Amino acid sequence: MDRVVVVGASLAGLRAAETLRNEGFGGQVVVVGAEQHRPYDRPPLSKKVLAGEWEPERIYLRQPDSFDELDVEWRLGVAAAGLDLDGGILHLADGTDILFDGCIIATGAVCRQLAEQSRHAHVHELRTLDDSMRLRAELSGGDHHAVVIGAGFIGLEVAATAKQLGNRVTVLEGAPAPLIRGLGPEMGAAIGAMHAERGVDIRCGVQVEGLHEDGVLLAGGELIESDLVVVGIGVVPATAWLDDSGLEIRDGIVCDATLNARSIDGGVRRGVYAAGDVLRWPNHLFDEEMRVEHWTNAAEQGAAAARNLLAVSCGNEPEPYAPVPFFWSDQFDIRVQFLGCSSPEDDVHVAAGSVDDGKFLALYRTGDKLHGALGVNSPRWVMKMRGSLAAGASWADAIAVAENFE
Ligand SMILES: Cc1cc2nc3c(=O)[nH]c(=O)nc-3n(C[C@H](O)[C@H](O)[C@H](O)COP(=O)(O)OP(=O)(O)OC[C@H]3O[C@@H](n4cnc5c(N)ncnc54)[C@H](O)[C@@H]3O)c2cc1C
Repeated sequence: MDRVVVVGASLAGLRAAETLRNEGFGGQVVVVGAEQHRPYDRPPLSKKVLAGEWEPERIYLRQPDSFDELDVEWRLGVAAAGLDLDGGILHLADGTDILFDGCIIATGAVCRQLAEQSRHAHVHELRTLDDSMRLRAELSGGDHHAVVIGAGFIGLEVAATAKQLGNRVTVLEGAPAPLIRGLGPEMGAAIGAMHAERGVDIRCGVQVEGLHEDGVLLAGGELIESDLVVVGIGVVPATAWLDDSGLEIRDGIVCDATLNARSIDGGVRRGVYAAGDVLRWPNHLFDEEMRVEHWTNAAEQGAAAARNLLAVSCGNEPEPYAPVPFFWSDQFDIRVQFLGCSSPEDDVHVAAGSVDDGKFLALYRTGDKLHGALGVNSPRWVMKMRGSLAAGASWADAIAVAENFE
């Protein structure tokens, strides 16, 4: 390979470019990014940056001069517009093309929006540094009634930060409890109760009818008056630009176990890999196809995609990517950490600590196996479950491990 193009200049794309260099790839590496910024870290956007405690300079993923040391051509501020797989050509929105021998797609995800959202100046979303700075300028006065639509992780992090800045905060959620998709109903309700104790008004089971210039209109006619609304109703993978590419897209780029992208004819596309929030792949460790929208996965997958691209180009065997997924979320003084997987059907058991004390370990059970582990303000306990999850531990063995925790 003479030239590898990485599409998406964020965490997964940067880790891919770094790995190409660390593994000794001497050809050209071009990184294309739709944003003007060099790769930066997103988790602080809803926490320290939004709170005004950190300035943007602090969240870049490398020091300015060490970006240059990577010996990468950065094409920033221009989006990829199409991919010609047979010709090995990436088309950019400015009308230029890049020829490639290898391609790593890391375009992440974009916020799902409500109808006519962009027409309302007081309605925000949060995905980029620019979004965060816009929202921060509004929130910092501390005298708003902020309404957050959606009680997922981003919504609850924004709610916590907005409350800590002195604003009145209401969260609207259609499901019966917050965080159902990530933690299931029982643990989602436990985190929701912790928000309520800290002064956030969480209203679950309410349907948003639409946005209004004076706030948010609920089904049934109630208007929640607000001068500042944040829509946090999840993300969709940024794949619109791949619609005519011939790659298989199904809520993300469909990849094989080695992160090699599949085409609609069913085979894999030699030389085309994906990493981060944008793809789904079969994780053999859990026997599940998954798309993960969290930091650790994006970092590890970027590196894994680059290693596999290089391996195949040298005639070596690529390695399946089969991690124990991990994420964290900080809300007020609550640190949530999750290892493994969860599904709404899982049985959940508090194995150490107690929900009432706000410090506990909850284990998730599928069949007779350990599926996931949630730690709330208990980092040591949750991390100790990694070995059990990696080994596919039985439920009985996992409970026995947790029984020794103090
Ligand atoms: C506010 C916020 C807080 C978060 N907090 C946490 C947390 O506490 N813990 C945790 O585990 N995870 C957290 N995450 C999730 C984590 O940041 C993401 O999983 C991670 O950023 C995904 O990295 P990525 O490189 O796959 O995609 P992204 O970071 O989404 O980057 C994709 C990049 O590709 C660019 N792009 C898109 N389309 C194109 C195109 N056509 N051409 C060129 N470039 C394109 C985008 O502009 C973007 O810069 C948070 C995310 C957000 C937004």
